[in-house]
Amino acid sequence: MGSRRDCTWILGLPGFRVQMIEGEEGRSDGRVRVRVERQGRRYPCSGCGQRTSRVRSAKERTWDDLPWAAHPVTLVYRQRRVVCRRCGVRTERIEFADAKARVTRRLRQQIGVDCQSMPTSHAAVRHGVSWGKARRAEKAVLAEWDRTRPKRQPRHIGLDEIQRGKGQRFWTVLSDVVHGEVMGLRQDRTEAAAAALLTEELTGRQRAAITAVCTDMHRPYLNAVGAVLRHAEVVFDKFHVLQHASAALDDVRRQEFFRAGAVMREHGRGKRWLLLRRWKTVRGSKRVELQTLFAANRRLFKAYVLREQLDRLWTYKTRPGVLNFVLGWIRALRWQRLPEMERLGDFLFRHIEGIAAYCDHPVRFGVVESINTTIKAVLRRARGMRDEQMLLLKLKWVTAHPIRSARDLARFLSPQGLYSNR
Ligand SMILES: [Zn+2]
Repeated sequence: MGSRRDCTWILGLPGFRVQMIEGEEGRSDGRVRVRVERQGRRYPCSGCGQRTSRVRSAKERTWDDLPWAAHPVTLVYRQRRVVCRRCGVRTERIEFADAKARVTRRLRQQIGVDCQSMPTSHAAVRHGVSWGKARRAEKAVLAEWDRTRPKRQPRHIGLDEIQRGKGQRFWTVLSDVVHGEVMGLRQDRTEAAAAALLTEELTGRQRAAITAVCTDMHRPYLNAVGAVLRHAEVVFDKFHVLQHASAALDDVRRQEFFRAGAVMREHGRGKRWLLLRRWKTVRGSKRVELQTLFAANRRLFKAYVLREQLDRLWTYKTRPGVLNFVLGWIRALRWQRLPEMERLGDFLFRHIEGIAAYCDHPVRFGVVESINTTIKAVLRRARGMRDEQMLLLKLKWVTAHPIRSARDLARFLSPQGLYSNR
C-alpha cells in the first residue's frame, strides 16, 4: 500500500487525512475501511461553524463513500462532541456529509444524479445501498439543488392542465415558458388551485415581472390570473385554439359522411386521421388520397382550407390585423352552409382578445408544447410515484436540464457541494 500521504491525496477530502486503511487481503472486491482524522486539533461546531479545541467526548462513526476501483469504501472517523462558546455542547460538523447522513455528500450526489437517468432500484444496486437510502439521497440532492439555484424571473409563464392516470384526475402545472421549466404543481384544475400556484410558488418580484400568461380558455384559470396577476395579459395557447378548429373540421367530416351517401362513404372511410393532419405534414400518396376525397366533397375541402388558414392568426404584428383577418375569415363562410365552422368563427371572435394578445407578447408556443411532452414522459415512467413533492422536483430537474457539460457534472459531484447556476 502506498504512503498515507498518497492515500490522503487520492481520498481528496479537504481538511482530512488518511490514518489507516483496513481491508481483507486477497479479495479483489472486498470492502475497504478508511480511517480518517482531521488535520489540526480544532473542530467546528455544528451549530455555528466556529472552531474550538475543547472536546467533551468522541464516538466512532462510519459513512459509505465512493468506491476505490472495485472496493466499496467505508469511512471511519471519531466524531467529537465539542464545547462551543456560543452554542454549548454540540456535535462536530462534518464537511463531507450532512448531519445524520449515512453516506458522504459526494456519494449522495452520485446516487442522486444517477437516479435521474436510471430507475432508483438500478442506482441503488450500482452503488451498493438499499432502495430507501438511494431514494432519500435522490430527494436530498434534488431538494438542495432546487433550494440553492437562483430564482428566474420569466416574462411569460404558462398555466396548463395535465391528466394523470385514468378517470378525471387533473393537475395544474405552472411553468416558465421563456426557459422551458416547470415551476409548480397542484392537484385539481380549479380556480383555487391555480391561485394557490400563482401566490405560493412565485415571489412578489417574480409576479411583478410577468407580462403574459399562456393558457387555454379554461374559465377558472382566467379568473385566477385576473385576480392574482392584474397587470398580466392572457395569451391563448395556439395548440388549444387549433384543437378547437380540428374538432370543428371533424364535425364537418362526420356530417358529410352521413349526409353524402355512397360515394362519400367510399372515399371517406378510414380518413379521419389523415383529414385532421396538417397539409404540410402530409406527403406523397397520402396527399393524393386527400385530393381525391376533396374532389368528391367540396364542403369538406372548404372546411379543410378554412382550418389551414387559421395558422395566419399568429403572423400578424398588430391587433387590428388579427381582427380583420378573423372578420374576413367569417365573411368567407357566408353561403357555405357550414354551421360547424360558423360556430368556430363565433368562438374565435369571442376569444379574439386572448388570441390577438400574441402580437404584443410573443409567447414561445413550441416551448409550451415541449414542456407538456416532457411531463407526460416523466409521468409514464413514474407510474407508481405517490410523493407529490418528489414528482415536482423530478419535473423541475428534467425540464431545467441542469447538467449540460463536464463542468456542470463536476460541480454536482464535488465533495463541498457547489451548485450549478443553471
Ligand atoms: Zn457553536
